[in-house]
Amino acid sequence: SRIKVGLVFGGRSGEHEVSIISAQAIAKGLTTPANPDRYELIPFYIDKNGAWLGAEIAASILKTGQPHPPSETPPPNFWNFPPQASEVDVWFPILHGPNGEDGTVQGLFKLVQKPWVGSGVAASAVGMDKILMKAVFAAAGLEQVAYLPVNRSQIWSDPCVYSHLCDHIESTLGYPCFVKPANLGSSVGIAKVKTRDQLTTALDNAASYDTRIIVEAGVVAREVECAVLGNDRPQASVIGEITYTSEFYDYETKYTDGRANLIIPADLPTEVIEKIQAMSITAFNAIGAAGLARLDFFYVEKTGEILINEVNTLPGFTALSMYPQLWEKTGLAFPDLVHQLVQLALERGAV
Ligand code: ATP
Ligand code: MG
Ligand code: MG
Ligand code: MG
Repeated sequence: SRIKVGLVFGGRSGEHEVSIISAQAIAKGLTTPANPDRYELIPFYIDKNGAWLGAEIAASILKTGQPHPPSETPPPNFWNFPPQASEVDVWFPILHGPNGEDGTVQGLFKLVQKPWVGSGVAASAVGMDKILMKAVFAAAGLEQVAYLPVNRSQIWSDPCVYSHLCDHIESTLGYPCFVKPANLGSSVGIAKVKTRDQLTTALDNAASYDTRIIVEAGVVAREVECAVLGNDRPQASVIGEITYTSEFYDYETKYTDGRANLIIPADLPTEVIEKIQAMSITAFNAIGAAGLARLDFFYVEKTGEILINEVNTLPGFTALSMYPQLWEKTGLAFPDLVHQLVQLALERGAV
């Protein structure tokens, strides 16, 4: 009989809309004739307030692509999930950002002892928190930009402490630098800053998103990405490059049609490709990822340096997203990719 896949999408995160589009693509991929009678889909939608809505509403959102108006009541207690949840054999969370990519939902699946697609609790949490992530990457010997971790309390503090923090950022990182909430995605809350004024504005803004903030030295480089698939023997895809004309790869550039170009495979020397693939596997293993991850890099052409930027343990998964396209160009079509992901989840079990 068909395996029942609980596809969870939406979520209490700034990446809610992207998640809906990712889920539409995955739903189609799991049930296309290329996966004949393999999977029965049970969709679950998490609204913007965190309430779980059952298969009927979720299916209609998959059809229309429109978010459901958020519930006014607080999210349900965990004994209050839609009844169809008890039928699920394997979960497929396609939630981007906080409350989904960060280990929270993975912990729920682990508690109910059902396997799920993607990384476990610790790897998801480390992958989402850019401060923890960078510490783990450094321990694995991966090169990255200079950075400073900042705590919100240093920003929401007396002017003297705040000013000292800004002096320290200016003297150690200089301008331009990037201010980021530690736990987010899709460039939400990120600013490229060139002056002290912009720095304080960016820090104040980032502090409204997260208690932890990271400031990084800005680098001038080509942006390249690699997709990894697997559990104990992870494989790296071909490399993709992103080009754009905006100041950086910000939210608008990511999600406005025609603003960014994905070049797959990227035009790079063989040794650079091989190094990025090797670094991707090292990074995947370093955080203890499972199933899938997309690794983002800076390639400084002038010096030949390859710096790891970050990992995304639940990367964008629309038909046009980098992750599935990288596998497509590596020789794994979308329906085969989602099939493999579910099989990897079943193989790993609820750990
Ligand atoms: P994603 O949607 O990939 O999860 P994110 O929100 O986690 O994104 P980053 O990938 O860390 O954010 O940064 C977003 C973009 O900002 C990068 O793709 C790049 O264009 C720019 N950027 C970030 N950090 C730096 C840096 N240190 N130097 C130069 N550009 C940077
Ligand atoms: Mg990210
Ligand atoms: Mg992300
Ligand atoms: Mg990124």
